[in-house]
Amino acid sequence: MRSNSQKPKKILIVGGGTAGWMAANLLAVRWPDIEISLLESSVIGIIGVGEGSTPHLKFFFDAIGVTDAEWMPRANATYKNGISFVGWSALPGFESYFHPFPAQTDDIFTLPVFFNQINTRVQGVDVNAHPDHYFLETYITRHNLGPIPAETFPFAVAYGYHFDSALLGQFLAEKAMGRGVKKIDATVDEVLLDATGAISGVRLNDSRVVTADFFIDCSGFQSLLLQGALKERFISFSDNLFNNAAVVMPSAIAEVIPPETRATALSSGWAWKIPLTNRFGNGYVYSSAYLSPEQAEVELRQHLGLMDADINARHLQMKVGRVEKHWQQNCVAVGLAQGFIEPLEATALALSFDTISRFITHFEQGLFTNQFQDLFNREINAKFEGVRDYIVCHYKANQRQDNDYWRANAANSNISERLQRILQLWHSSRDFARDMYEQQLVASYQPKSWACLLAGYGVFPPLNTAPQNTLTSSSQGHAQVADFIRRCGLNFPAHQTLLVGL
Ligand SMILES: Cc1cc2nc3c(=O)[nH]c(=O)nc-3n(C[C@H](O)[C@H](O)[C@H](O)COP(=O)(O)OP(=O)(O)OC[C@H]3O[C@@H](n4cnc5c(N)ncnc54)[C@H](O)[C@@H]3O)c2cc1C
Repeated sequence: MRSNSQKPKKILIVGGGTAGWMAANLLAVRWPDIEISLLESSVIGIIGVGEGSTPHLKFFFDAIGVTDAEWMPRANATYKNGISFVGWSALPGFESYFHPFPAQTDDIFTLPVFFNQINTRVQGVDVNAHPDHYFLETYITRHNLGPIPAETFPFAVAYGYHFDSALLGQFLAEKAMGRGVKKIDATVDEVLLDATGAISGVRLNDSRVVTADFFIDCSGFQSLLLQGALKERFISFSDNLFNNAAVVMPSAIAEVIPPETRATALSSGWAWKIPLTNRFGNGYVYSSAYLSPEQAEVELRQHLGLMDADINARHLQMKVGRVEKHWQQNCVAVGLAQGFIEPLEATALALSFDTISRFITHFEQGLFTNQFQDLFNREINAKFEGVRDYIVCHYKANQRQDNDYWRANAANSNISERLQRILQLWHSSRDFARDMYEQQLVASYQPKSWACLLAGYGVFPPLNTAPQNTLTSSSQGHAQVADFIRRCGLNFPAHQTLLVGL
């Protein structure tokens, strides 16, 4: 195993998709004294999907000192307050719910009331426990408001973005090259190993050899360096997550641009609708065991009302899972090269950002040796599994069960022990949020997100007869939250106004 106590002089990033250029920017900001090159192949190109984010993309831009005004217009970007889930439950009153990003108003008032309602409802008491009534971000989304309030309003709400991934890549490439990153446009033919089994360089299709001391594998699903040359094991999540294909196509943007992603359950998966300033990006993520690509395309066109439109669709395969070790020898994989958990909840760029940030921290702490490699790998695996469990729950807990696909998802017993315990806790009538922390079940997602999902689907026991005092205090709490949120909402501008002002 390579153990180098010296700071590398040269780092080579292989791959110029979003992951590669994010890595280039973060490394160039942190280590301006290292020569950083990025090798990408314009012949192969990028995957060119991945247009929704979590608030982590904002943290990434903060880390490299880029404002919304600087990059958003360049990538036709819009603001995202969260995701609307439509059609995942057939229970009356629960046909849709909104999964909001966090807001400071959650902690000061609305979240405790929501959890109180939840804890009352899981005991069979008839109280309003639908998540859509308890969060400021849900309110502002329903009113097409953007997530940046007037300066006089003292509480922040977290937000993500929607963006054109190719344009975002171009912006990030310019930024990184402005910081000294060298771009090489060529195709890698062979990855070269030294006598210790570490990577020494890559041979290009024009026979040139590019060497470096450290390598970042951002080569997408191919994972040329980590899974290819270093033979790192890939752990598939196909037992947990059935979707393995997608079909994508654009559609015309609406007059009012919504500040949310829409995730609509279809016959054998779900469709996203992502608003950019100039178009909607749409895609149907499905399981090829239940639907052919042709059937998926027809269903997506029907869903979008585009049966006769002259718009080309693109078909993609997805490899869902993760590598066993994201950092091996002198190579770290980032992005699709390290793994992918399907795009529901749009977590891929957040995981990439987390991977690069933690790598920087651990590499520095270990004085540029692989001292903290095992810890890093454990941490990143825990992140992937935390996200996976939450995504799996969307399928496992579905309340439609109208065909084989949805019934198979509900019946799926290949779920992690943590997910089993979270579902048991939900049904146990105990204090859900408190016990999640006490039982150390919180990983990538907070109790709020789990409760939004399960309550949003209407996963509750049958109603029993409730004592009158509980009902009174419950409806008082509900009314107070509604009034509080409405008044908070007065401080937020229209989404469109924010976009025009950039
Ligand atoms: C259907 C779908 C929907 C998605 N939706 C979301 C979403 O909403 N939100 C989100 O965060 N993520 C999403 N993702 C994931 C997201 O697309 C990726 O995480 C993101 O685009 C980063 O990809 P990447 O840079 O790892 O790989 P890629 O974009 O595939 O880039 C790979 C790079 O490696 C280069 N390369 C490959 N082979 C060679 C070679 N031999 N020589 C030289 N260069 C080479 C390519 O040219 C390219 O530059 C989605 C993914 C899919 C499949």
